[in-house]
Amino acid sequence: MSARIIDGKTIAADLRGKAADAVHRLRGDRGVVPGIAVVLVGDNPASEVYVRNKSKAVTESGMHAFDRKLPSSISEVELLAIIAELNADEEVNGILVQLPLPKQIDTQKIIAAIDPGKDVDGFHPLNAGRLASGLPGLAPCTPLGCVFLAKTVHETLAGLEAVVIGRSNIVGKPVAQLLLAENATVTIAHSKTNDLPSVCRRADLLVAAIGRPEMVRGDWIKPGATVIDVGINRVPGENGKSRIVGDVAYTEAGPIAGAITPVPGGVGPMTIACLLLNTLRAACAQKGLPPPKV
Ligand code: NAP
Repeated sequence: MSARIIDGKTIAADLRGKAADAVHRLRGDRGVVPGIAVVLVGDNPASEVYVRNKSKAVTESGMHAFDRKLPSSISEVELLAIIAELNADEEVNGILVQLPLPKQIDTQKIIAAIDPGKDVDGFHPLNAGRLASGLPGLAPCTPLGCVFLAKTVHETLAGLEAVVIGRSNIVGKPVAQLLLAENATVTIAHSKTNDLPSVCRRADLLVAAIGRPEMVRGDWIKPGATVIDVGINRVPGENGKSRIVGDVAYTEAGPIAGAITPVPGGVGPMTIACLLLNTLRAACAQKGLPPPKV
């Protein structure tokens, strides 16, 4: 393994510390304590773990956590009423609805009902449009984390050949938009891309957001490239236990890449750190204050 390992855990911890300092200053100087409402519908065990971790990080940063745990039987109308209540609540600066939602609820309708200024997940069409138009807004947390990690390796991303595999609204598209805003030359690849290995071999910066265990092989990587692996895939491990791997074959890619994120411990921890940052930004914007210095 010759690649530098991009230690997302340490970088995220540092960012969370800076967010906590900013919250402390905001409370001291302006009497403002940012608050976030995380809405969890149903009892999906993976979602429960995510929400618990998010709430812990929010509380540790000194922000207020207004969690709402709702039954899986909730109707769309009832959920919309709760979103309206949170939109109107001045103590709530950020709203995050944990996905996936039960099938009786139209996810896009719920996302569109969130006040765009409180949309700390950055999934509202207005924020997606702002990002695509180069206007200020709230961008999705995982893509923000990817770009943050890439910038720990490269002083500037300007002029880099970046390839993003994946075009979801949650990761692929917004990460591509953020890289474009950093003046990288961006290619978005997907399941219909011809000769994906050749496309990847062009990349100085490769972002894999596919959801397929270790699909990106070592010989797809340009020597010295920076590899950001967003994938979280559970595969069978030893002794009947499962383990988590990324979308990149890490042991193959390590000797070829210049820098690489591990899975776990790479992009994952950055998502929550960026959620804190987005909540801080949202709170400052709502109070007419300048953006936080983090
Ligand atoms: P998604 O909505 O399923 O999108 C996957 C994308 O990969 C699609 O655009 C799809 O192309 C593309 N793809 C699938 N198979 C492909 C193939 N054989 N060749 C090329 N492209 C292919 O997934 P997502 O929500 O973006 O998530 C991607 C991964 O990131 C998942 O493992 C997820 O668990 C992980 N994730 C991690 C975090 C974190 O905090 N670290 C956050 C979010 C997601 P088409 O559009 O053509 O179908």
